[in-house]
Amino acid sequence: MALVPFDDRDGFIWWDGKLVPWRDAKLHVLSHGLHYASAVFEGERAYAGNIFRLRAHTDRLINSARILGFEIPFSAEQIDTACIETLAANNLTDAYVRPIAWRGTEMLAVSAQHTTIHLAIAVWPWPSYFGGDRMAGIRLGLAEWRRPAPETAPVAAKATGLYMIGTLSKHKAEAEGFADALMLDWRGRVAEATGANIFFAIDGVLHTPTPDCFLDGITRRSVMALARHRQIQVVERAIQPEEMGRAAEAFLAGTAAEVTPIRAIGNVGFTPGRITETLMADYDALVRKSPVEVARVVA
Ligand code: PMP
Repeated sequence: MALVPFDDRDGFIWWDGKLVPWRDAKLHVLSHGLHYASAVFEGERAYAGNIFRLRAHTDRLINSARILGFEIPFSAEQIDTACIETLAANNLTDAYVRPIAWRGTEMLAVSAQHTTIHLAIAVWPWPSYFGGDRMAGIRLGLAEWRRPAPETAPVAAKATGLYMIGTLSKHKAEAEGFADALMLDWRGRVAEATGANIFFAIDGVLHTPTPDCFLDGITRRSVMALARHRQIQVVERAIQPEEMGRAAEAFLAGTAAEVTPIRAIGNVGFTPGRITETLMADYDALVRKSPVEVARVVA
C-alpha cells in the first residue's frame, strides 16, 4: 500500500484559531519546538461524531504544556470547540484527532522565554492501530530503553521529547518482527508499550503497573472503570518482569491501540480470553456512547 505523506492530503488543519488548507499548514524550520522538543500533543479518537473523553484530553494537553513551562493561549472550551470544528471541516465522524502545541520562532536557543505558543489540530482516518485479527493478539519484543525516573524527565507530560526512546524501541521491535515493544522503567519494573498502557489478568484479577513514571492513560482509566463495573478486581502495583509468566491474559490500552490483546511478550505467552474479550467489547461499546453516558461510566 502506497503511503500518503502527511503533508500532501486534502482537508483542513486548525492552526492558531483558523482552519487552513491541509497543504498550507507549514511550519518554519527554525521553530523552537522542532529543535528543542518544546512541544506537547494529544491523541484522541472520534467515534460516530463524538470525540471520546475530549475534555480529559484537552485538560491533559493544557497540563502537559504547563509542565513544560508554557501556557497554551486558548481555553479548554476553545480547544474542545476547535477539535470538533476540525472534525466537521474534514467531514469525518470516526477519526484520530491530533492537537499539538509548540514554542515558535522568536528565540532559538535552550532559553526560549519569549517564544509565541502555537496550537494546531489535525484529524485523519485511523482504523485499528494493530490491524488484522485483533483477538489473535499481538507479539511484543523487549525494549532496550527504559522509561526515565520522574527526576530525570517530565514524565507526566505528553511531551514530544519523551517519544524519542519510544520510536527507537518500536523500530527495533518491528525490525525483529514484533508489533511493539514492552518498555521497563528505570528500576527494571514493567512500565508500558511505546504508545499504550499494559494490563495483565492473573487468577481472574486485573493487574496494571502504577503510573509513576509514564502516562496514566485516559484509556487505562476507562478500562479500570469498566472492569470494576464487571466486578473484576483491579490492582495497581509495581510489576516485575518475572511475574508476567503468571498471567493468563495480557492486553494494551491506549487511544490509538484501544484494547488490544497480547499473544506474547518476548518468550512469555498469553491466551487472550474472557477478561480481555469482555473489556474489549465494553470499551467498544463505551466509546460509541454520548459524552453524558460516558461520564456516567467513567466519572
Ligand atoms: N503511554 C504512552 C507512551 C502513550 O503514547 C499513550 C497514548 N497517548 C498512552 C500511554 C495511553 O494514553 P491514552 O489512553 O490517554 O491514549
